Amino acid sequence: MSIVYIVSAPSGSGKSTLVNELFKMVRHLDFSISYTTRPPRGSEQNGKEYFFVSREEFEAMIAADEFLEHAEVFGNYYGTACRFLREAEARGNDLLLDIDVQGARQIKEEKIPDAVSIFILPPDREKLEWRLRNRGLDSEAVIRRRLDTARREIENYSKYDYILVNNLLEQSADELKDIVLAVRLLRSGAEPSGEEKRRVESAQACRLEQARERVQPILASFNPQAVKGT
Ligand code: ADP
Ligand code: 5GP
Repeated sequence: MSIVYIVSAPSGSGKSTLVNELFKMVRHLDFSISYTTRPPRGSEQNGKEYFFVSREEFEAMIAADEFLEHAEVFGNYYGTACRFLREAEARGNDLLLDIDVQGARQIKEEKIPDAVSIFILPPDREKLEWRLRNRGLDSEAVIRRRLDTARREIENYSKYDYILVNNLLEQSADELKDIVLAVRLLRSGAEPSGEEKRRVESAQACRLEQARERVQPILASFNPQAVKGT
């Protein structure tokens, strides 16, 4: 059975960057290429970052029950095709889904309860805003909308198994790798050896229960009013 990893994050937190780094370091892990009705951005290519389809094509796939989950994000459809999981299983690989909080909920609650969910957070609101601007992909209006959505999305952090605060890129990429490999190891039933013990401890430190305190100042930076009121 393949292990399914779900990674979610408010836009601009560095999820794509971290996932790219992860794939350089971990083998036997497939990336589920989602279908979307949004147009390609920048240098995106059909079949690489996404499969870009029309609303009609997407709705035909929903009707044919071809999606493991699907959701509407920023006014466009996004969905994970069932075939990616079948293909990963046939290859003996694990599968990583880069999906939003609605998709993560559908997978964990309805389809694959033992999927491993990881929520990536920016260090604070100011750094998220800086990263969105510095990325240079979005208009001012889109940046404002992404920041507003981030404030709401972040409140869902406690539904995830692991929390990763993307402060220093190299360290965060290592932590993501530690989570993926530690879960693999623990599920295999093997006893962790020297380096593997360190990895299991590093992953453990990202467990939701361990991360709650670290998350509070980040939440406060997005919603100072709520904190003043508590
Ligand atoms: P997402 O996929 O979450 O929308 P990206 O991976 O596109 O975010 O990252 C947003 C921007 O932030 C990019 O310009 C990226 O190079 C930068 N970035 C990612 N991680 C870090 C980090 N740890 N420190 C500083 N900048 C980062
Ligand atoms: P973007 O348009 O910036 O690439 O992605 C917008 C959001 O859609 C991100 O939060 C991303 O994780 C999410 N997303 C991408 N693919 C899927 C998918 O297949 N299903 C769901 N539910 N969300 C997705």
